Amino acid sequence: MKNDNNIPYKTYLEEHEIPRQWYNVRADMPVKPAPLLNPGTGQPLTAEEMTPIFCEELVKQELDNDTPYIDIPEEVRDFYKMYRPSPLIRAYFLEEALDTPAKIYYKFEGSNTSGSHKLNSAIAQAYYAKKQGLKGVTTETGAGQWGTALSMACSYFDLDCKVYMVKVSYEQKPFRREVMRTYGASVVPSPSLETDIGKKINEEFPGTTGSLGCAISEAVEVAVKSGGEYKYELGSVLNQVLLHQSIIGMEAKAACDKLGVKPDIIIGCAGGGSNLGGLISPFMGEKLRGEADYDIVAVEPASCPSFTRGKFAYDFCDTGKICPLAKMYTLGSSFIPSANHAGGLRYHGMSPVLSQLYHDGYMRAVAVEQTSVFAAAELFARVEGTLPAPESSHAIRVAIDEALKCKETGEEKTILFGLTGTGYFDMVAYEKFNDGAMGDYIPSDEELEASLSQLPQIDA
Ligand SMILES: *Cc1c(COP(=O)(O)O)cnc(C)c1O
Repeated sequence: MKNDNNIPYKTYLEEHEIPRQWYNVRADMPVKPAPLLNPGTGQPLTAEEMTPIFCEELVKQELDNDTPYIDIPEEVRDFYKMYRPSPLIRAYFLEEALDTPAKIYYKFEGSNTSGSHKLNSAIAQAYYAKKQGLKGVTTETGAGQWGTALSMACSYFDLDCKVYMVKVSYEQKPFRREVMRTYGASVVPSPSLETDIGKKINEEFPGTTGSLGCAISEAVEVAVKSGGEYKYELGSVLNQVLLHQSIIGMEAKAACDKLGVKPDIIIGCAGGGSNLGGLISPFMGEKLRGEADYDIVAVEPASCPSFTRGKFAYDFCDTGKICPLAKMYTLGSSFIPSANHAGGLRYHGMSPVLSQLYHDGYMRAVAVEQTSVFAAAELFARVEGTLPAPESSHAIRVAIDEALKCKETGEEKTILFGLTGTGYFDMVAYEKFNDGAMGDYIPSDEELEASLSQLPQIDA
């Protein structure tokens, strides 16, 4: 096994080196992400209009395009100590299996019970809800990672947590549901008959198995109608979530600096953009300030290709069209990925911060097909030991492809990717792959046009 300069397999920062501040990449962006719009007026959403939905402190963070560093509250940092710093791992075994001169590193966020990076923002959001004196929070969950993370965070701060879980996942992932209930959350299959929007969707689409966009509508409705006792919390896409996730990138950068390593390529999977946004933020900051250059790559499923085939336009964040409009790369809020798609990352839109950075040429995007993603996942599991989440495996796929390019050219590039989580709850998808029963699906231009043609008409 090659071991350059005795670089360890795992690099952990010391506990006292856990960052004390989050980094807000918006402060260094020459063109700021476009503001959220009020769907009724078409005007930028004000703080007053946001407070019925979100916690006050989170509204401030959402709107703050200028403060580069924001203090991490001590209570949040204390919670981080239970599972952070997360390791930066040199993938020596993967390099060996690929016979590549490339050096591959990954930042592993799956070593907490929620099994993903989502806990980094869940604990911050629960903290601000508690601080504001709320009774509880509402949210949606698809595959279940975000709901699990928020349940854990709410139980820590003794908050009520109401999760609207996409019905198909509720039925197919009973163990995820039980983890949430174990942490004290109430879990409702969506669309439910508890909300106006749920009833409406059930009437319009009898027997529907739900979607993320629909569960978001229900969770927001419940928060807004709670008389201020509950607020809504979202696990991705929003500026505030990318801010909290910057802890991933700051730790990764600190560990790289300690090792004297500078990545050439930084790769992350992109669903709503939170892990990728968090991982790249300090590196992107250097790039935006002209201090360093990095090749930054977003990886998305070919079956839900927001960056590579979507439009940069204002769109609804939810199916019920009650949420604010965000300017982002989108496939249209009525887009639902093919039922054969198993690998997560199925949101129709993308973080407005990443959308702006991509639009301005600071990063690129690649779409990959799911059978090639699972092939990468399996190789990774076999040589590196960790069973990766299908979402994370999109990044593994492209890290492997880049390492194989280095093998062709003989370049010794340094590759850093985000391993966002573990795949223990995704065994139905792995089973399909192992049985050779998994297919690929690429939506046609006509299919995409059907949902894109319904984008709201906004001149901005
Ligand atoms: C939710 C999730 C993602 C995708 O969400 P982003 O906001 O794009 O980071 C990726 N990996 C895992 C393990 C997840 O749970």
